[in-house]
Amino acid sequence: MSARASANGSTERLGPCLKQQELILEAQSCLVQLSELMRAAAAALENRHENLAHEIDLQIELKFGEKERAMGKLQQHREEHGC
Ligand SMILES: [Zn+2]
Repeated sequence: MSARASANGSTERLGPCLKQQELILEAQSCLVQLSELMRAAAAALENRHENLAHEIDLQIELKFGEKERAMGKLQQHREEHGC
């Protein structure tokens, strides 16, 4: 019986590549901003600031589109790069 030492492959990549990490941060940032906007919209409604709530609602729509694009880019990168 012989003990076999397992070599750590130094070429092995752990986790997503740099580009993917960048895209993940971008998508995360959109999601965090969306949650903040939604919280602000809820507070505006609660305080009967209807104009403000409407304005924030428009920002949510825009940010949602941004989030969709960021998620799409991330997915596309993973497919193309295989990372
Ligand atoms: Zn990649």
